[in-house]
Amino acid sequence: MTKTSNGAGGQPLENVDYHAIGMSSLDASDPFIIAQRQLDTAAELLALDEPTHQMLRWPLREMHAHLPVRMDDGRIHVFHGFRVQYNDARGPCKGGIRFHPLETIDTVRALAAWMTWKTAVVDVPLGGGKGGIVCDPTTLSAGELERLSRAYVRQMARILGLEKDVPAPDVYTTPQIMAWMMDEYSVIQGHNEFGMITGKPLPLGGSEGRGDATARGGVYVMQEAARIAKLDLGKATYSIQGFGNAGSNAARIIADELGGTVVAVGEIDGTIYNARGLDVHALEEHFRRTRGVRGFKGGDFMPNSRACLELTCDVLVPAALENQITADNAGRVKARLLLELANGPTTPEADAILTDKGVLLLPDFLANAGGVTVSYFEMVQNAYGYYWDLDLVRERLLRKMTAAFRAVHEAAQTHQVPNRLAAYLVAVNRVAQAMKLRGWV
Ligand code: NAD
Repeated sequence: MTKTSNGAGGQPLENVDYHAIGMSSLDASDPFIIAQRQLDTAAELLALDEPTHQMLRWPLREMHAHLPVRMDDGRIHVFHGFRVQYNDARGPCKGGIRFHPLETIDTVRALAAWMTWKTAVVDVPLGGGKGGIVCDPTTLSAGELERLSRAYVRQMARILGLEKDVPAPDVYTTPQIMAWMMDEYSVIQGHNEFGMITGKPLPLGGSEGRGDATARGGVYVMQEAARIAKLDLGKATYSIQGFGNAGSNAARIIADELGGTVVAVGEIDGTIYNARGLDVHALEEHFRRTRGVRGFKGGDFMPNSRACLELTCDVLVPAALENQITADNAGRVKARLLLELANGPTTPEADAILTDKGVLLLPDFLANAGGVTVSYFEMVQNAYGYYWDLDLVRERLLRKMTAAFRAVHEAAQTHQVPNRLAAYLVAVNRVAQAMKLRGWV
């Protein structure tokens, strides 16, 4: 029996063998432990009853699979994959699939928990889930990636589906991968099931506006927050970590639509910085060719991917991975506003430091909920077989994100708490209410 400091309020839960339930790490920086600690704080403020609190601390169910894939050289390689269905009280589980060499079940559990809060905070009728495969997609050929994607669906098909659990793209997974997964699932079912996955290419039932929805939704939230904070976003400077889907789209929207100045971008190979502003389009072109920012002529290069977090700017946009802003570097963050497009980029210790410094924080599951919101629109359009134009998608996204921010802001004012805790109060309350109405607790 292993007991650790992982229970409510940091105390060990009695009679829980954490190794037996597959916690891969019991470290305080483990994203799932962080997710549980965040929930515990909200549960206390909401005075949640014990059964509801315990149900919300853990996934409802999860599946682990071993995926044999024939590699190009003829060998069979066995990959490990997960799907976590955290909570479906408000509707089918929803959440991306990540391909990452350092993927762990705890990261996937944390992300599935955050999906549960995310769908609740934007008030779409979905629950939360997440999937992952431990692999390095940069070393796989297109054929190997396709066979791996299909192998994952063959194992997971029994728990996926429009009414059960609907995946989407996430770190290192693309619309093409969604298309292969949809095709494999449709073959298994014997008919087309476009709505079983979102983030598909447009000709296969994808939605207009899904490509930049995460970044755009974040910008809509930031616009609402900036109005209250009296920050002129057109005159502001921005530093962005991660130049993938979330980060590069954010950079483009900020530069082209808000007129803001992107002074720094941090990527896996380092940070590129120009106090007068980076040419975002030229950087995108460079990044497409090299998969990094090193060698870009329009700025100074620093060989540290976290340098971008500490540079002078008004708005910091972490859009890469979890645990980037920690107790070690939070004191050196100079931004006034933090727009968390990545999931879990800030540890709880860093959170406290930033709150003390007066940084206005727009928490991950609110700030990056634009992606799942347009994914939900995609599911609706697939079910109707009738598709909306880009203007309609953006108008509806704006309405959802604005309403979500206002609900969180109101909770923050009412309870006099920071935005992250306020977002938890809104989301957890909605999920708990659904569980109660269904008679689960
Ligand atoms: P992506 O794979 O398109 O981009 C991630 C980028 O981060 C890559 O370019 C990668 O090279 C870079 N990166 C990886 N490690 C880094 C490091 N240590 N420092 C700097 N850069 C690093 O993924 P994405 O879809 O843009 O997702 C980014 C984050 O946003 C993740 O936390 C993801 O969970 C979250 N998110 C994405 C979506 C979406 O719709 N794409 C929705 C919600 C949340």
